[in-house]
Amino acid sequence: IRQRKRNVLILMSDTGGGHRASALALKAAMEELHPNRLNVTIVDMYASCSSLPFRWLPQMYRRLAKRPLQWRLTVHLFADFKPVRWFMEQWIFMSSASGLRHCLRDSAPEIVVSMHAMTSIYPMHALRRLGGGRRRIPVVTVVTDLTTVHPAWFDKHVDVCFVASEEAAALARAKGLKPSQLRMYGLPIHPMFGRKPISKAPLRRRIGATPNKPLVLLVGGGDGVGGLGRLAETVATELAARFPGNVQLMVVCGKNEQVRAELAAKRWEGIDVHVRGFVQPMCDYMAASDCVITKAGPGTVMEAASQGLPVMLSGYLPPQEAGNVDCVVRGGFGAYSRKPHVIAKTVAMWLANPKMLATMSVKAKQAARPQAVYAIAQDICNMLPAQQPSTPNFALSAP
Ligand code: UDP
Repeated sequence: IRQRKRNVLILMSDTGGGHRASALALKAAMEELHPNRLNVTIVDMYASCSSLPFRWLPQMYRRLAKRPLQWRLTVHLFADFKPVRWFMEQWIFMSSASGLRHCLRDSAPEIVVSMHAMTSIYPMHALRRLGGGRRRIPVVTVVTDLTTVHPAWFDKHVDVCFVASEEAAALARAKGLKPSQLRMYGLPIHPMFGRKPISKAPLRRRIGATPNKPLVLLVGGGDGVGGLGRLAETVATELAARFPGNVQLMVVCGKNEQVRAELAAKRWEGIDVHVRGFVQPMCDYMAASDCVITKAGPGTVMEAASQGLPVMLSGYLPPQEAGNVDCVVRGGFGAYSRKPHVIAKTVAMWLANPKMLATMSVKAKQAARPQAVYAIAQDICNMLPAQQPSTPNFALSAP
């Protein structure tokens, strides 16, 4: 008997680049483990299912992420006070319920995976209503933050919750999740990051850099945040002064078209500066580099670790990225400063000291969990309900 494909729905939202990157990573791992057996759909719940103002969540986040203090205050105001949070949750559900029901009906999932703090509780409400009061479809959460995880990620009714650290597991337990609901493998990053590395020269050529010069990578997450323009100028000036003509800088601006255009129009002296927009695959850019300067995004940090890349952190978005600074600094594979001139000098010092770079590279690899994505993918596939070919894959009673 020919078996039909099993439907998996991943709910997330494009606030930054990390949630989609993790969702794509999970999809790739699931499809690699079970080729031609799965139909994995990734949906931005807010952009696709909600009405205004929540439909604009990704755009709102893009603006706020450039102003960490405003972002911190917004989270504090709307998510940290229980009554306000309760009100927001009702409002979000009212504005998303109909869209979410359509999405569930169209994608007919046999399992729903939430990969965003703000999509974790709603699928369960919607499924309960769709299923006439019974939730028949497993719902799992894959937390895509590392250690400082917002409590909104956790709902004790979830079937399984995947976390990436002991700190996150402790918070989940405090929120009422039982040990049997928790799995800890690591942050899901794309399977490409776990493949055998090839040497830097051909990779540098592939990404348009000079093959035989050390390369510093500068990124600001998927949205290109964190004052990339000023940082690029300060780092380029320092590197040009310390290693005239002998080092190159790759600035990846993500979706920040404004900063990309500004930097691309600049004339650089004493250093090759390559300016890019949103690049893929990021693993080529990382594997071609000698170190990375980035804000403390969990995705970028763990991807860099998998490539043994020393990490110079240039900032973090509170509260969710605060713990990532500790992870890098205590892990011994990087440093943190918000001051562009300190960042520039630190990176120059690393480049002048290959032994130090090599030691940090080893520590980075020790912190990496490139295989975590497969463990998560396999567990999720194991949770798919047993197949019953004669029945429809999503038995719905009319709402
Ligand atoms: N990324 C990418 N291309 C780019 C910039 C970023 O693929 O040009 C990816 C990066 O590899 C990572 C994600 O976007 O997987 C950024 O996630 P992170 O958690 O670091 O930060 P966020 O953007 O979510 O704040």
